[in-house]
Amino acid sequence: MEKIPVGILGATGMVGQNYLRLLENHPWFEVTFLCASPHSAGKTYEAAVERRWHMPTPIPKRESQLYVYSIDQISKALEKCQFVFSAIDTDVAKEYEEQYAAAGLPVVSNAGYHRQTPDVPVLIPEINASHLSILPSQQQKRGWEKGFIVTKPNCSIQSYMIPLAALHEKFQLKKILVTTMQAVSGAGYPGVPSWDIYENVVPYIAKEEEKTENEPLKIFGSIVDNEIIPTPDVRISAHCNRVPVLDGHLACVSVEFATPPSREEILSIWNAYTPITQTLELPSAPEKTILYREELNRPQPRLDRDAGKGMAITVGRLRPCNLLDFRFVALSHNTLRGAAGGGILNAELLFTQRYLT
Ligand code: NAP
Repeated sequence: MEKIPVGILGATGMVGQNYLRLLENHPWFEVTFLCASPHSAGKTYEAAVERRWHMPTPIPKRESQLYVYSIDQISKALEKCQFVFSAIDTDVAKEYEEQYAAAGLPVVSNAGYHRQTPDVPVLIPEINASHLSILPSQQQKRGWEKGFIVTKPNCSIQSYMIPLAALHEKFQLKKILVTTMQAVSGAGYPGVPSWDIYENVVPYIAKEEEKTENEPLKIFGSIVDNEIIPTPDVRISAHCNRVPVLDGHLACVSVEFATPPSREEILSIWNAYTPITQTLELPSAPEKTILYREELNRPQPRLDRDAGKGMAITVGRLRPCNLLDFRFVALSHNTLRGAAGGGILNAELLFTQRYLT
């Protein structure tokens, strides 16, 4: 099969670098267009990331020699690729994502700007693949012929949304109390100053609690009159903390259901969980999406973040809660499942559903 040419907006940043690393040898997609800020534009990729390549593997050889364009060179993007991954900051996304979509390029975004736009899906393929059906009306409303925007949610919610969604249909979630312990890589590079985070915990991440409380409601929402209406049935309270961990966001979750299940029912649903990403055999889907660890001291970021090549969710410590029904701990890799890996999984789903051809 001929590979689909793809571009990366913000290719030089932490998420952009992960895209390049993960897309090396991807069976369906091939990177052909890179862009970043004026600071990096006009150089080869290798020169643009000199002394700031943070990945554990070398820069992919072919891509190291690609030219880095300025993000406003949209006509070049149109010449060189069929859709783009967006790994730029929210204020830059505000300016450019719609311009790319209007020019005819689908945008698979990691940025937060469009997550609350009513006709833009916030996609976790395992949960709300059905929200893609809003794309034709998104295009029609804006007069876009081929372009559209799909976002992925904030990295803080990836760990516990899938285990909860697996239970939602049968037992209906009512209340969720979540405390996240979020890795420093979630803040990009150089991110949190070492002076602030070394030997410390920072109990505040700007706008993170609002995202953690609102995005899941849209993901569980329904399409009414061409808009995604957040579910009114679930309430969430979040505490988000930055902790001195490099990669891997951990979440301690308490949950109340409309019809409380037993512990055995929860475990049996998690163990049998076979989402659309597995049935479609998407290349980036882990073999098993939810891994339940019986050990009392798991999951842990250092030991469990790379499970399923960083795309699996590791869960543990499921036990009754004194206030709500159950509590558990969940972990996911924030720059893989929570960022570039999640974006690629979204694009793989879009491709199988014929939105990228
Ligand atoms: P980052 O390391 O700061 O990288 C930002 C990228 O955007 C760089 O390539 C930068 O180019 C480019 N950029 C900055 N200003 C620009 C401008 N005016 N025009 C064009 N390009 C510009 O940030 P990151 O951690 O990769 O995050 C990128 C996005 O993903 C953000 O929206 C973030 O919220 C989201 N996200 C991050 C994570 C995570 O775990 N890190 C997880 C989920 C979502 P230069 O190198 O040339 O400056």
